[in-house]
Amino acid sequence: MKSSDLSIIDVLDFKPDRGLVELENRRVLIFDGNILMELRRTIVENIGWEKCQPVIFHYGYEVGSLDAKSLGEMYRWETPEEWFKAGAAMLTQRGYCKTVLNHLSLNRDKDQLLFRGRWFNSYEVDSHKHLKLTDTGPVCFVISGYLSGFASVCFEREVLVQEQECFHRQHCSFEGRFVEDWGKQGIRFLEASKDHDLQHKYALLNKQLSASRVKSVPQKDEDPSSGDMLGKRAEWLPYRSKSMTRVVEMAHQVAKTSANILITGGTGVGKEVVANYIHSLSPMSKSKFIAINCTALPLALLESELFGHCKGAFTGADRDKKGLMIEAGSGTIFLDEIGDVPLSVQVKLLRALQERKVRPVGCNTEVAIKARVIASTNRNLEEMMKEGKFRADLYYRLNVFPIHIPSLQERRDDILPIARYFLSKYAPGSKGFSPRVAYVLENYEWPGNVRELGNAIERAGILAGDNKIRIEHLPPALTAGEEVSALQQVKEGWPSLGDLEKKYILSVLEYCEGKKMKAAKILGIGSNTLWRKLKKYQ
Ligand SMILES: [Zn+2]
Repeated sequence: MKSSDLSIIDVLDFKPDRGLVELENRRVLIFDGNILMELRRTIVENIGWEKCQPVIFHYGYEVGSLDAKSLGEMYRWETPEEWFKAGAAMLTQRGYCKTVLNHLSLNRDKDQLLFRGRWFNSYEVDSHKHLKLTDTGPVCFVISGYLSGFASVCFEREVLVQEQECFHRQHCSFEGRFVEDWGKQGIRFLEASKDHDLQHKYALLNKQLSASRVKSVPQKDEDPSSGDMLGKRAEWLPYRSKSMTRVVEMAHQVAKTSANILITGGTGVGKEVVANYIHSLSPMSKSKFIAINCTALPLALLESELFGHCKGAFTGADRDKKGLMIEAGSGTIFLDEIGDVPLSVQVKLLRALQERKVRPVGCNTEVAIKARVIASTNRNLEEMMKEGKFRADLYYRLNVFPIHIPSLQERRDDILPIARYFLSKYAPGSKGFSPRVAYVLENYEWPGNVRELGNAIERAGILAGDNKIRIEHLPPALTAGEEVSALQQVKEGWPSLGDLEKKYILSVLEYCEGKKMKAAKILGIGSNTLWRKLKKYQ
C-alpha cells in the first residue's frame, strides 16, 4: 500500500442509523473547529500559553498514535517510511492542515531519523489568531503532537516533531527526529506532555500564577463601594496590561514626593482607587485620606466643605466648622471631578495651593494647610481652559504630575483577571465563567469601565448562585448582540416552560427598571397580560 492511495473516505465508516462514525472500530466525532478553539482559550486563560503547550501536544499525540495503529491494522505498508507518510496524508485529510513532506531519511541501522516539511492552512494558526495571542513562536502543538505520535508508532521509537517557523509566516515548517536527538529540552517537553497528573499540576500552577503573573496588591478589608467618604481604604484590582503597569510605576514614583497630582480617565476607571493607593504608599499614609466629590455639592456647600466656615458666616452656621482641606491634616485630600468646580471656588483653590493657606468662609484669619492635593477629572480640562471654564493657573498647579488611567477597552488583557477577582468577592462559591461569557466580557465596550464590570459580575453571581456564570446571567446590555439560548437554560436542571417564562419576564422587568409598559413592549405582549402574569407569579 502506498500512502498516496490513502483516502479518508475509505477509512471511515459512516453508520448514520446507529449514530456512529468509526475509524477501524474506533469511534470518531466530527468536531466543529470553533469548539477546539474555545477549549484552547479556556486552557490558555487558566494555565497560560506556555503551560498549555504540552497539554495540547499530548492530545494530538494520542490521536496520531491511534491513527497509526489503526492504519497499520488496516493496510500492509511497504516500509515504515510509507506508513509514516500516510500519517502526513491523514493530517491533511482530517482537515488539520495541508502537510507537505520535503525530506525523509532513516539510516540503515534505524538509529537516525530526520524528516522535514511544511504545513499550510493550519487550524491552530487560525485558532491562535482567534485568541488574539501575539506569540511569534510555534503554535501548532496539536499537529506537532499528532505527527510525533504517528511517527513514534511507525518507527517503534519516540519521535518528536517541532516547528521551526509558524504563525507569522505564510506556512509553518517542521522537523522530526528521535527525541534523544533533540537533547534535554526535547526529552523534557515530551515527558511533560505525558504527565497525566494534570489536576494536581493545574492547582499548583493556579497558585503560582496568582502569585506572579497577575500582579496584585494585598487586599484591604473595607468595601470601597460604601458611601463613607472619610478614611476610606483602597481596594486594589489585579492587572497585567502594560498600560496599567505603567500607571502603578508612576504611582510608586510620585508617592514619595509631595507633588500635586492630576488623575484623568473615564467614568468608573478607578481614579479614586489610584489616588488612595498613592496615599497608602506615601509618607503621609498614617494620616487621613479624604475624598470629596465636587459635583455632588452645591456651590455654597462646596466652599464651606472645602475651606470650613466661622460661626455666623451664613444662616444656619451656628458654630465654627473645619474645612476638609484642614481636616485632612498632613494626609491627602482627593478632589474628585475637579472640572465641575465653579470658577469662584477655583480662585480660592488656587490660592490655597499657592500659599498653602485657606481662609474659612466668613472668617478673618487664615489657617495653614499641609495635605497633599490629588485631583481627578473625566473632562478635558485643556478644552475647558480654552472656553474659559477652567482657570489655566489652577490647571498648571494641579497638573504637576499627570496620571492617565486607561479605560477597560484600552486594556482588555485586564478584564478577565478583574472579573475573576469580583467573582471571588461577590460569589465565592461560583464555578467560574463559561468560555462564551469570558468572550463577551473581553469584547464588550465597557462604557462604565471597572465600576460597570463590578456591577455586572455582582449581578451575575447572584443569578447563578453556585453554578457557572452563563450568558443568560449577564446584564442585557452586554448580551445585546448575543443570542441567549433557551436550550442553554434548559440544560441546567430542565426548568418548566412556566419557570422559564417567569425568569425571562422578571429579567426584562429588571432591565426596564420596573417600567411595565416598556417591559410589555419588549416582551411583545399587552400590559394587561403582563399584569396578569405578574399577579400569577406574585
Ligand atoms: Zn504552525
